[in-house]
Parts: sequence; C-alpha cells; structure tokens
Amino acid sequence: MDSALRTAAPSDDGATEPVVVVIDDLSDLFVRTAEAEARLVAALQAMETVPIGQYRKVVAPAGHAERLATEWDLPDLRMRARLVRADVLLRDGDAVEAGRIARQAIAWATERDDSYLLARSHRQLALFFYLVGDMSDALAHAVQCVAHTGEDVPARLRANHLSVLAMVLHDSGSPEDARRRNEEALEIAVALGDGELSLQILNNLAYYAYQDGDPERAEHLIPQIRAVSARYGLPLDAGVLDTVARIEMTHGRYVEAVETLRPFLDGSAGHLLIERNALAECLLTVAEAQRLSGDIEAAQASLDRAVEVCEERNLGSARARVREEQAQVYAATGRHAEAYEEYRLFHTETQALQSAHREARARTLLAVFETEEARRESRRFREMARRDPLTGLYNRRFLDERLPLVLEQAAERGAPLSVALVDLDHFKRINDTLSHATGDAVLKGVAGLLADAVAGPAIAARLGGEEFVLVLPDTDVGEAARRCQRLRRAIADHGWQAVTGDLPVTASIGVATVLDGRGSAAALLAQADRNLYAAKRAGRNRVVADPAGRPLESTSP
Ligand code: GH3
Ligand code: MG
Ligand code: MG
Repeated sequence: MDSALRTAAPSDDGATEPVVVVIDDLSDLFVRTAEAEARLVAALQAMETVPIGQYRKVVAPAGHAERLATEWDLPDLRMRARLVRADVLLRDGDAVEAGRIARQAIAWATERDDSYLLARSHRQLALFFYLVGDMSDALAHAVQCVAHTGEDVPARLRANHLSVLAMVLHDSGSPEDARRRNEEALEIAVALGDGELSLQILNNLAYYAYQDGDPERAEHLIPQIRAVSARYGLPLDAGVLDTVARIEMTHGRYVEAVETLRPFLDGSAGHLLIERNALAECLLTVAEAQRLSGDIEAAQASLDRAVEVCEERNLGSARARVREEQAQVYAATGRHAEAYEEYRLFHTETQALQSAHREARARTLLAVFETEEARRESRRFREMARRDPLTGLYNRRFLDERLPLVLEQAAERGAPLSVALVDLDHFKRINDTLSHATGDAVLKGVAGLLADAVAGPAIAARLGGEEFVLVLPDTDVGEAARRCQRLRRAIADHGWQAVTGDLPVTASIGVATVLDGRGSAAALLAQADRNLYAAKRAGRNRVVADPAGRPLESTSP
C-alpha cells in the first residue's frame, strides 16, 4: 500500500512546494528498540492528523501500530491506535464498534488521568454522538476534548480538535462560538502552512456562513479558498465546490454556479468526489442552478442523472431531495399535477427516512451504551427474583418453576428423584423466648447447613417461614434418607449455644421419592409433607422417608 500522505507547505519564496508526509506503515518492525518505539509514536501522530479525504490510508498502519503496541506492552499507544481505527470505522458506517472503542478508551484514560488520550477519546465520542444526531452529548464531549488538549500537543492536532468543536457548536445552534473556534483553527493551519487543513476549515466557515444567512461573509471567503487552492496546488474537491456554487447562487450568479460544478457534469472529476454522496449532491445543486437560470431542459437532464446516481448508490436522503427539486422543475413548466405528486413523494420518503434514522440511532446508542449493562442488570434482577433475601437460598418462585423441569428430566432419563421438606421444630419458641432477630439468625444458620448439604444438581430452597426444601436428582429413597439424616444431625449438633443459649435447634424432615419421574411436582411435595407431619407426630427431630410414614430413626443418634 502507498502509505505516503501528501500535504504541502509553502517554500521560502512562497511558491508551491509539495511536502510529503509519510505515514510509516510499520510493517517491518518486530523488535522493540528505542528507535522502533520512536517510529511507532511518530506514525501514530501522523495517523491522528491524516487529512479527512485520505482517512482510509491509515487502516493498515493503524493495525500494525495496535499489534506492536500490544506486543511491546505500551497500552497508551495501543489505545491511540485503536482510536485511529475507530475514526475509520465511524466514517465507514460502523458507529457501534467505533463508539465501543471510544468508550473503552475514555474509561482507560480517565482511570490514568492521561490528558492526551482523554482529548482523543472525547473527540471520538463527540464525533460518534454527532453522527447519531445527539448534539448535546456531542457538545459535552467536544468541549472536554478541547479542554484536555494541552499546549504540548502538536498544533495540527489542536486545530483538528478545535474544528470538531466548531462543527458541533454550529449544529447545536451556536454559530458565533463555532466561528470563533474555526477561525482559531484556521490561524493554526495557516501558520503551519497546512493547505489541506486550511481548505477544510475555510470550507466549513463558508458553508456555515451560507447556511446561517450571511451571504456577504460567505462570498468573502471564496477568494480565500481559491487562493489557498492555488498556492498549495490543491484542487478543490466536490464538497468545497458545492459550497462555492451554493454561495454564488445566493448572489443570483446561477450560470457561474453551473460552471463551478461543470467538472461533475462532464464526468471529468471523479478524483474530487471524496464522499459517497458527493456526486448526487453536486448534481442537485447544478439542477437547481440550471432551473433558476431558466434552462429547464438542462435541469431535467441533471436530475435524471442524479436519480441514476442515487439508485446506484442507494442514497435515500438525496433521492428524496431530488424529488423536491423535480417538483420545482415540473412546477416551472406548468405541470402542476406531476409537481404535486413528486412533492407528495418527497414528503413521504423524507418522513420514512427520518423515522428509520431515529430507530437506527436508538439501536446504535443501545448497542454502545446499554447492552452490557442492561444484560448484567437483567441477570442480576432475574437472580434476585429467584432468591430469598434473608438466607440467599433459592425461593419458592424458583422452586415452582424448576421442580417440574427437574421432574421431566428425571422422567426422560428414567432416573430417581427425591425431595425433602425440612421444618424447624418449635421454632416459634425461639422467636418468642429470644427474639425475632435471633430467629432470623437461626434461619440463616440452618440455610448455611442446607447449602452445605447440596452439591452438583441438587437444590436447596426456602419455601417460607422456617420451612425449607431439598431437591435431590438421581437420588433414590435410601440415599435420600441417608443424606437427610446427615443434615438432621448437622442441624442438631451445630454450635447454636452462641445464638440460642440453652434452646436446642432441630428439624424434622419428610422425604418423598419418585423412581422414574412419573407424577406431578405437587403430588411429590404433598407426599413429602405427609411424611414431615408424620415426623412431627412421632416426636420431631427425625426423618421420615417411608411411603407408609414410618420414621427412619428416632431422635438423637
Ligand atoms: P413445629 O415444630 O410444629 O414446626 O412448630 P413451629 O413453632 O416451628 O411452627 P409454627 O408454624 O407454629 O411457627 C413457625 C414460626 O416461624 C411462626 C413465625 O412467627 C416464624 N417465622 C416465620 N417466618 C419467619 C422469619 O422470617 N423470621 C423469624 N424470625 N421467624 C419467622
Ligand atoms: Mg412450619
Ligand atoms: Mg416448625
């Protein structure tokens, strides 16, 4: 790839002398040396100030720079390379990825208080928000960008940051502030002898003056634009010529405007069409100038070409505006019904585009700023909804959802499944003689013992009050009874002294088992409850697992 980027600077005698600024593409670097590192820094600086019209030329060097900075463990340079890549992505239409990179970079820079990267990442976020049409966020970031642009950054970068702020200020309704920033940026560009940047800023100044209804000032800028173009030998691209033509039109110089854009009519200026929609825009301007100059036939021919270009490149917004101009052309020749129909279509298409744009914007913002958090949040809320807040065990809602599924799985595999209802004995007594808080402490302690008792696919849940449940997949009645005995003993033998003093804490447990998953969750729990009742009746602190309701073992071991 030709990585040389041309810009130009005046020589001492004022004649045009092209200066070649080379963006080192770094592809021959592998080993980290002081010299190699210096080359990496210089290349990044060049990439960060690449002229707008040549932004795609940084793709490969930025990739190499990011790889090297990663390998050499230079995280700030890596972030700078990523931001250069984000700029390309944004211009190429991948706003989501560009926004994500800018977000990461800003988090990184904020954490380290790295002002250079803060300025760069605020700039990138400003452009991101500008593109999605969120002017207030764009402005906040553009202001931060310039605020973090220190005196020590290269002047060209400072001019670039100022012109981003100017652009956002203008579109947020502060034309005067915008002009001041642009003029400051222009001063820097002129002092640097940077013709390309000077032209870009002059174009913005002229276009804004035209848009803001100041045709005199706009007009005044045309000779300056032409002078810079001549001095540096830089041809005016489609964007600048369109601005010039529009200004000429506001002064009634329609034929002149047509001449200004002539290169795009005869197809001789392909290299000046930098933006995707540039040709369509120029053809629209030409058609309007031709109509206003009275040459309706030529205007129609320009519109016909504009339609072709729009359809070829799928340019919805320009296509709608072609209809608007077509309506004017029809009206100028007395074809009012057709004019009305074109105008109606213009209106419908514009509205459809606006709502599509709003939706796309919402999607982009969501993708960049909310998905991660939203996903994390919803996972957290879902988990919260399944948990009992006092003990942290699963709750009844979760059990009601899960048990039928577990039962189904057992049925599919023909595997046994046991459930055990665990109810504390004389729990009311603990609440009444000690306190409710002590009761809570006991519930938490018991919950801990239950959690210890489950492993793998087993589930422990609190059904409510002092009643818990264990779900034991792949566990037949004998194994379930053994596990519940161990749990019963663990509860009874736990060191409750510190919590309840002399009051013992014990539990009765009713177990029910299905061999092949047949039957309902409700029937299984009902059987366990009957066994629990049997355990209570038999004197508490015991396990009943037998379908006939006989206790397995009497009280203490
Ligand atoms: P049994 O041996 O027959 O099970 O008697 P018991 O006292 O354990 O049973 P009972 O159902 O009569 O009392 C349960 C008590 O649990 C009543 C209620 O005040 C108490 N309780 C329910 N939920 C909570 C809670 O979240 N915290 C506390 N501290 N007590 C609770
Ligand atoms: Mg109870
Ligand atoms: Mg109880």
